[in-house]
Amino acid sequence: MSDVIPFRKLSLKEKHKGSTLCRHGHHKWKLDKAKQFDVKQGKLITIYNCARCGKKKVKSL
Ligand SMILES: [Zn+2]
Repeated sequence: MSDVIPFRKLSLKEKHKGSTLCRHGHHKWKLDKAKQFDVKQGKLITIYNCARCGKKKVKSL
């Protein structure tokens, strides 16, 4: 019995791995700008962006 699953090419898959994680909400957040003042919100915010997909998130302090 040989139930061995053959290895598939990883190159493309590896490339997509990051964005797959991102699509599942696992972003690689990197601090972009710390303690900026958001005029609209009237408070201090910290901006992060994802090292893989470039998505931004804003965290209010
Ligand atoms: Zn991401």
